[in-house]
Amino acid sequence: MQRLRLEISGAVQGVGFRPFVYRLAHRYGLAGWVSNTSKGVVIEVDGDAEILAEFAEALLKEKPSVSIIQNIRSKSLLAAGYSSFKILKSKGGKKEAFVLPDLATCHECSLEILDPANRRYRYPFTNCTNCGPRYSIINAIPYDRPSTTMSRFRMCIKCRNEYEDPYDRRFHAQPNACPQCGPHLELWDSSGVILAKRDDALRRASVEILEGKILAVKGLGGFHLITLASSDEAVRTLRSRKGREMKPFALMFPSISQISECCMLSSEERGSLQSPRSPIVLLQKHDETNSRMHISELVSPSNPEYGVMLPYTPLHILLMNEIGQPVIATSGNLSDEPICTDEIEALERLKDIADLLLVHNRPIARHVDDSIVRIFNGREMILRRARGYAPLPMSMDKEGASIFATGAHLKNTLALSIGKNVFISQHIGDLETVQALEAFDEVWNSIEALYEAHPDIIAYDMHPDYISSAKAKESHIRGIPVQHHIAHIYSCMLDSGVRPPLLGVAWDGTGYGMDGTVWGGEFFNITGGSVSRIAHLRRFRLPGGEKAVKEPRRSAFGLLTELFDDPLEYLPSGSFSPEESDIMKKMISSKLNSPLTSSVGRLFDAVASILDLHQTIEFEGQAAMALEHEIGDNKTEEYYPIEILRHEGEPMVIDWAPLIEGIIIDAAERMDTGIISAKFHNALAESIAAVAEIAGERKIVLSGGCFQNVYLLQKVLDKLEKMGCEPFIHRNIPSNDGGIAPGQVLAALMMDSEK
Ligand code: ZN
Ligand code: ZN
Ligand code: FE
Repeated sequence: MQRLRLEISGAVQGVGFRPFVYRLAHRYGLAGWVSNTSKGVVIEVDGDAEILAEFAEALLKEKPSVSIIQNIRSKSLLAAGYSSFKILKSKGGKKEAFVLPDLATCHECSLEILDPANRRYRYPFTNCTNCGPRYSIINAIPYDRPSTTMSRFRMCIKCRNEYEDPYDRRFHAQPNACPQCGPHLELWDSSGVILAKRDDALRRASVEILEGKILAVKGLGGFHLITLASSDEAVRTLRSRKGREMKPFALMFPSISQISECCMLSSEERGSLQSPRSPIVLLQKHDETNSRMHISELVSPSNPEYGVMLPYTPLHILLMNEIGQPVIATSGNLSDEPICTDEIEALERLKDIADLLLVHNRPIARHVDDSIVRIFNGREMILRRARGYAPLPMSMDKEGASIFATGAHLKNTLALSIGKNVFISQHIGDLETVQALEAFDEVWNSIEALYEAHPDIIAYDMHPDYISSAKAKESHIRGIPVQHHIAHIYSCMLDSGVRPPLLGVAWDGTGYGMDGTVWGGEFFNITGGSVSRIAHLRRFRLPGGEKAVKEPRRSAFGLLTELFDDPLEYLPSGSFSPEESDIMKKMISSKLNSPLTSSVGRLFDAVASILDLHQTIEFEGQAAMALEHEIGDNKTEEYYPIEILRHEGEPMVIDWAPLIEGIIIDAAERMDTGIISAKFHNALAESIAAVAEIAGERKIVLSGGCFQNVYLLQKVLDKLEKMGCEPFIHRNIPSNDGGIAPGQVLAALMMDSEK
């Protein structure tokens, strides 16, 4: 007889881990105990060595599907003489246990709510230990009912019995509830008058949606605005009320089979859609002729993709069952604000958008948006990290000071390291509105409170005007500024686990450079602890500075000024009035409000303007996306020439002059825009290969928003692999500015340990 002690860390709380261990111990006839700690779960069992080994093996093999084991420490000790197996009370200590993300409704629970004989028939707040809300309802760890927003609901006897029975699927399911004791629905008009309650509210809400109304629906991590996807009228109304003309809306479908009628669907895409994470997955639309279902053109205009998800809560399942066709399910906010989470606040903020509100009385502890992923080469690539993923950490191979990072200005997220784990907050958004700044403060406070964090260092972007940086500097913790593009590279290093030496390629729209210019087409050599910028895109001026971000034509004007006396001759007619053109010229020649940039994002904008795809845009990346989408089936290996200029003691310069000249000639000869675009993308891939060749580095890290462009990414990967290089890309952390905060953490940790 001996005693086995297992200390397990990871996502093992609130997932039915202890009852699973309890049942397993009984199966093997073992005595001992299991307990939650602040780090995870500890198990002790007495038994025969052989049986203990079998027990440990079965534990790993059969662990609850939603649990994640990060590490197991196992010890063999003298038998303790336990007489039975017990689940002990949670222990306190340093907070390192993972808070689980919200999990989509499991199969068993979905069957129950559709079964008229079940006591949870049509109950929208059904859940169990394998599914349901977590991060969106938790106020403190350890994760127990009193520390969630469910504390106000007292379980009825039936629910209590389930909760206390280790053999029940709902043993210690913290949000356990039923129609007798749990939260319920109400349907409100836009002034807050109650129109219907409980199941009545649900039925009436679906009737209203089918009639073309716009409903604000309180879901898991916030409000959605829901309306029929088939109705041009409804979509047009939503667009005008929300102040959003072109940006694609996400769709929610009642079933996977309906999705496959509208979109191409691989088994991996199907897998992501049906996973407990249940993200929005970007899917290729079927051609008009192949689509067996009508969806309004206005849902995702001039875009070959839809963002698609399945219902992920009982409320959404029941609603979609009634509606029976796809709906738009977009964030409940005005454009660019964070998602609304509270019904009283929703009345105020959404009253001019929604005709009716479907609300409930389970409070949302924090906003959690829908996540967005795409399947790239058979695996998920996260573009927006929130519900289903946040706040799960990435792990580092090295431990150091505890670091808090305040992220970038756009697509802001926050990050915190404790030990080897970097916890990444949910997507907060662009820090441009009062609501966004409030959300920034709330998420910051809630992360610190949840993990009882006392960071030693605060990392922030070098940009002198970023609010996220200003807030970091106000905090009186020792600060480490991190250059934006260096943070991008470290973010990808954290994501992929690759170690230096390496070549980092950071391509995006905008970031504050160490020389005060606007960077965005940067190459870094990262060795042990040093970072050097070895190459960048040839610079050009951005007349109007920040304004150029919304107006690709300004990038084009600045870029063409480098090559020609009169840029207007090479721009589509009407892109500038003669007066505007004069102003541009003056701004550039006087260098007034026209900073230099080496941004590849702005180069994309310039080309999109020259080809007359977009002169102005509504959302970030719109022109670059249009340029990528132009390629379509235009497969060509041809590329425009690009020159690499080398000067002793200075970074190499990627000169786009021959590329732009090539584009102008092809466009004048009316070559298909798709071919021109393909040749442009191919040229960019060539330039990375050329720099990699000169740098002589084998490991190449690709980061920054430009690598969300899958045509470009694939071309770069193909070229690098052919050369015998090993490229690393983002998967679990967005390559866009949503990945800056975790990158800042790792970069600051490296800088700190250098000292
Ligand atoms: Zn369930
Ligand atoms: Zn109950
Ligand atoms: Fe960036």
